[in-house]
Amino acid sequence: MKIGAGMTWKRTESIFLQLRGRGRLEILHLSHKEEYMKKSEEEKRSDPDNGVEEIQQEVEDYLDLRPRKLSEYIGQKQVVETLEIAIQAAKKRGEPLDHILFHAPPGLGKTTLAHIIATEMEVRIVTTSGPAIEKGGDLISILTHLERGDVLFIDEVHRLPKVVEEFLYPAMEDFCIDFIFDKGAHARSHRYRLERFTLVGATTRAGLLSAPLRERFGILRNLDFYAVEELCQVVRRSAALLGVPIDEKGTEEIAKRSRGTPRISNRLLKRVRDFAEIRREGKIDKATADEALRLEGVDEIGLTGLDRRFLETIIRYYKGGPVGLEAIAATLQEEADTLVDMIEPFLLKIGFVARMQSGRKATELAYQHFGIPYPESNRQLSLPTRKKQL
Ligand code: ADP
Repeated sequence: MKIGAGMTWKRTESIFLQLRGRGRLEILHLSHKEEYMKKSEEEKRSDPDNGVEEIQQEVEDYLDLRPRKLSEYIGQKQVVETLEIAIQAAKKRGEPLDHILFHAPPGLGKTTLAHIIATEMEVRIVTTSGPAIEKGGDLISILTHLERGDVLFIDEVHRLPKVVEEFLYPAMEDFCIDFIFDKGAHARSHRYRLERFTLVGATTRAGLLSAPLRERFGILRNLDFYAVEELCQVVRRSAALLGVPIDEKGTEEIAKRSRGTPRISNRLLKRVRDFAEIRREGKIDKATADEALRLEGVDEIGLTGLDRRFLETIIRYYKGGPVGLEAIAATLQEEADTLVDMIEPFLLKIGFVARMQSGRKATELAYQHFGIPYPESNRQLSLPTRKKQL
């Protein structure tokens, strides 16, 4: 991505907004931001080399592994098809897209899709997150700066405070905000019209989203964990972009250990690349990937130290369960939310954990993985017995 020369003011601003939304702008070259912000609108427009050239490299490093277009997005076929149709239809009618909600565990590509939607619709994207918007005023300031068709991406949308959510309802439905002045008998309201925008929400916990908010999204889609073959494509693509030599077996080894998650594939690829460069001759093959990932504490099916401690806690401390999540969190000294968002979804997916009303239970598959005999007394409950394919 080239920022600066040849780039329109709108696009440059959009990148600033993206970075600001991610809290990155403060980290990246604050001086450039300040210098740039001080310039008048006219100067910004007339100066193609507008003081942001030097952040180019950081932006590239930060965004480069993300697919930019729907055609580059790997997997999630049904979601991609839904979006292709919706985008083409909206463009044909010359209208902004409907509001879209993505639900998935972290790292499966929700943010990437939001950026792709903006690129495909040829509009700006403003990104923020639920916990970052503390007051109604924060949201109003974002909404009133949106231009027609802009994408507003709210990550962790389930964590929006209730007072903020209430401003969002009329904004999403009628593209307006109602200001109330005074109280009681003197109360007056003023309606402020907004440009028609597209809200793209992402959540790891659809269940925590209030019903009125959920109902205002026109398109709701779940992203599922990726199959090994799809993750192989992610690894191949990222290795090519990073210029890392890797063979097929090495690719597969990383993909198999990525917990069905592209973000993990990319992270593991970078760790294996470091290992290959320092301890080997730079090329990644199966043996190099295996050794590097063992060093990272990632086992042959991708479980990390925390996954293993989670399962071992249920098996060893609570006789296989059922045990409440809070009790597991307390034993592990981890936040219950971290376990629900980051650990459980994959263990449920591969059938290592069963979630029951009375708590979490380790399945026979989990016992087998650790080589611990499955207690006969735990068999009464119907639990998955076949290893599920990722
Ligand atoms: P989320 O917002 O769901 O936490 P992201 O969209 O930030 O996840 O994705 C994490 C990383 O994984 C991205 O930087 C991107 O490089 C990669 N990624 C995610 N989905 C895909 C995909 N379908 N194809 C290729 N790479 C992907």
